[in-house]
Amino acid sequence: MVSRVIPVDNFDLVIFGGTGDLARRKILPGLFRRYCAGQIPEDAQIIGAARSDEGDEGFRKLVGDAVREFGGGRHCEDGTLENFLERVKYVRVDAMGDDGWEELQGRLRLGVVKAFYFSVGPSLFGALAERLRSFGLADDDSRVVVEKPFGHDLETARALNATLAQHFKEEQIYRIDHYLGKETVQNLMAVRFGNMLFEPLWNSQYVDHIQITVAETVDVGGRGGYYDKSGAMRDMVQNHLMQLLCLIAMEPPARFEPDAVRDEKLKVIRALDPVDYHHIARGQYAADDDQPGYRVHVGDPRSKTESFVALKCHISNWRWAGTPFYLRTGKKLRGRGSEIAVVFKDAPHSIFGDEAGRHNNILAIRLQPDEGMTLGVTIKEPGPGGMRLIDVPLDMSFAEALGAEAEDVPDAYERLIMDVIRGNQTLFMRGDEVEAAWAWTDPIIEGWNRRGEVPKPYDAGSSGPEDALMLMHRDGRKWREIKA
Ligand code: NAP
Repeated sequence: MVSRVIPVDNFDLVIFGGTGDLARRKILPGLFRRYCAGQIPEDAQIIGAARSDEGDEGFRKLVGDAVREFGGGRHCEDGTLENFLERVKYVRVDAMGDDGWEELQGRLRLGVVKAFYFSVGPSLFGALAERLRSFGLADDDSRVVVEKPFGHDLETARALNATLAQHFKEEQIYRIDHYLGKETVQNLMAVRFGNMLFEPLWNSQYVDHIQITVAETVDVGGRGGYYDKSGAMRDMVQNHLMQLLCLIAMEPPARFEPDAVRDEKLKVIRALDPVDYHHIARGQYAADDDQPGYRVHVGDPRSKTESFVALKCHISNWRWAGTPFYLRTGKKLRGRGSEIAVVFKDAPHSIFGDEAGRHNNILAIRLQPDEGMTLGVTIKEPGPGGMRLIDVPLDMSFAEALGAEAEDVPDAYERLIMDVIRGNQTLFMRGDEVEAAWAWTDPIIEGWNRRGEVPKPYDAGSSGPEDALMLMHRDGRKWREIKA
C-alpha cells in the first residue's frame, strides 16, 4: 500500500560532494531504495563529483559501502545493487577551479531532466552555479538542489539568494528542508485539509496552545566547530521548527501547488510577532559524571552558544490571535523525538461535575520516532462507581496502519529527490520564505549578543533548563513529556 510507485522521467543527477557525509548517509542510499522500488528509470545516471580521485570504480565501491552501511532496501532482489551501481559514475571536479568541468559536461545527455545537488558547504554554491552556466552544463530547465544552512542571517541569506538568482530562476532552485519530506508532515496537511473534522476547530476559539518539540539525545558530535557558530536557534528553529509552525498555522491554500502552499507559509512568518526576550529560555548542556559538557565538545570554555532553546510566540492574525505557540529544541535531552501537539481548550461546561475530572483533547503528531498521530479522547472510566472521566489515546502509527513496516516508508530525502526530478517544488522553501524566517530570528539572536546573555546550563539527559519549564508554568501550562 505504501509502495504505489510512479516512475519519474529519465534523468542525469550530479551530486557535488558525492563523497561527503550527507551523500553517503542519505542521498545515495535513498536513491538506491527508490531504484529498488522501481521508481528510477533503468538508464538514469547518478554522477558523483568532488575533488578526490575516485574514478568510476572507486566511487561505485563507496556507494555500495554506503548503501550497505546506511540502509539499502530490505526487500531488494539479489543483484539489484550491482544493477544500480551501473548507473553510478564519477567525475573529478573542483568547484573553485576549471578542472573536470568539460568532462562532466561530456557525460550529460540531451533530452533528460538534469539536476545538480549541491551537497557541499554553502561557500561553494556561488562557484558551482557560475560554472554550471559558463561550462554549459545547465540550461533553463535544469534544477539545482541546495542544502542547509541557507545563510547565517538575513544578510547572508539574501546574498546567497542573489548569487543563485544570477544563474537560475526561482523555479529551478530547490532549497531542502528535509523535515518537509517527512511522511507525517505531509500527512499533517492531509489531516487538516482532507477531513471535515479538524479544520473548523483549528483556531484560537478552540485551540488553547500548540507545542512543537524537536528533542535530540545526541551531543554536537564531530560538528562542534560548525555548531558553535550556529546554535540551536540557527540550526533548528530558523528552518525546521519554523517550517512546522507554518504548516500547522497556515490558511488552507487554494490548491496543493508550490506557490499556493508557499504563499500561505510566508504569510504565517510575516504575521509572527517579535518575541519578547522574557519568553525565551536558552540552555547549554553541562558535563555529567562520565561525559564532558558542551563547552568541552566545542573546544571553547567560554562559549555562549545555546544547545537548547524554548520560546513562546504569537501569530497576529484572525485565526490565531491569543493562541500561544511554544517551540522547543535541544541536544543531549532525555529522549529523542519530534512532535507537534495541538492542545484544545476545555469543554465549556462539565455536565459530570468537577469530581469526574476534565481532560482537554490533544492531537499529537509524531514526526519521529514511529511517525504517526495520537488523538486524546475523554471517555468514562470503565466499571461501577459513578461517572469518572479518563483520557485515552486513539493511536495511529502510519507504518502499522498502512500495513508496512517503518523501514518501507520512504525517507524524507528519497521523496524530496524524486520531487526534484518531477519538478515539484511544493515541499521546498522559496527564497522569500527563508529571508522572512531570518528576519524574524535575527533580532532574537542580536538581542542575546547585545545583552551578552549566557545560556543556562542543563543536565544531560534532562528536559532542558529550568527556565524552559517556567516558561510554561507561568502560563499555567506544561510541556508534554519528552519520553526517554
Ligand atoms: P562533508 O562530509 O564535509 O563533504 C563535503 C563534500 O564536498 C565532499 O565530497 C568533498 O569532497 C566535497 N568538496 C569539498 N570542497 C570541494 C570543492 N572545492 N570542489 C568539489 N567538491 C568539494 O560535508 P557534508 O556533511 O556531506 O555536508 C554537505 C552539505 O550538506 C553542507 O552544506 C552541510 O551543511 C549540509 N548538510 C549536511 C548534513 C549531514 O548530515 N551531513 C545535514 C544537513 C545538511 P573532496 O574533499 O574530495 O572535494
